[in-house]
Amino acid sequence: MYDKNNVFAKILRGEIPCNKIYEDEFVLAFKDINPQAKIHALVIPKGAYVDMDDFALNAKSKEIEGLIRGLGKVANILGVSTSGYRYLGNNGRDGGQEVPHLHFHIFGGQSLGRMISIKKDGWRIKKSTQFFFWWD
Ligand code: 5GP
Repeated sequence: MYDKNNVFAKILRGEIPCNKIYEDEFVLAFKDINPQAKIHALVIPKGAYVDMDDFALNAKSKEIEGLIRGLGKVANILGVSTSGYRYLGNNGRDGGQEVPHLHFHIFGGQSLGRMISIKKDGWRIKKSTQFFFWWD
């Protein structure tokens, strides 16, 4: 069930400010408030979708196309299309999703290493980018 009071819903309604990067009929993109890389943006659909399961099941084709095209446009605006970037979607509990409105992260502006950090037995195994930041 979609929570209309989640922080991204409030940003979409203009109740909370954001540092906007791009907006069209289907998506809003803005800078993450707590950046984890030199470039860290969030791209969200304008529709009320909790996560990818909700979106894949219920979004209209034009909304799905709009989100994918929006991701590409934002990467282009951020200037990372040539240098490369990572887009990442945390989904549900095990995916570590904190905000229950579908969103993609775009990380870039530096080498991001490989893949992810995996939590094992209560210990976070630092790998790739997270390892880098741990020591930075
Ligand atoms: P998640 O863990 O759900 O994939 O990521 C949620 C992201 O939203 C986090 O990276 C967090 O820093 C970001 N975030 C949470 N609240 C706000 C906010 O009010 N403004 C912005 N710009 N980002 C937020």
